[in-house]
Amino acid sequence: MAQAPARCLNHPDRTAIARCKQCHKPLCERCAKKMTGGIYCSDECYQKMNAFQDRVQKLDEARKPGLSIGKLVGRFLVPAIIIVVLYYVLVVEKVRSVGDIIDLIRKLIP
Ligand SMILES: [Zn+2]
Ligand SMILES: [Zn+2]
Repeated sequence: MAQAPARCLNHPDRTAIARCKQCHKPLCERCAKKMTGGIYCSDECYQKMNAFQDRVQKLDEARKPGLSIGKLVGRFLVPAIIIVVLYYVLVVEKVRSVGDIIDLIRKLIP
């Protein structure tokens, strides 16, 4: 059994040719408003859909990682290693001169 074609919500005597992309109301040729991206019953629905798509887009942007692991390593790990090495050389080994550095290297290499 064939389904009766949907009728326009505002004009029960007219056959619906499309549905509002936002509220899914059946719309006749006269009621359907062609907007960018689809057919809507009213400007209100068009604005609602635009606001919704804006939100989705912003959520997508927020989900994208701003920092990659490589950038994190470059930004935090490398300076941390340099600080640890400097601390070891200057504080633990009390290196104050080139001679001290040579002594330190001799100690490290048997
Ligand atoms: Zn609508
Ligand atoms: Zn209509």
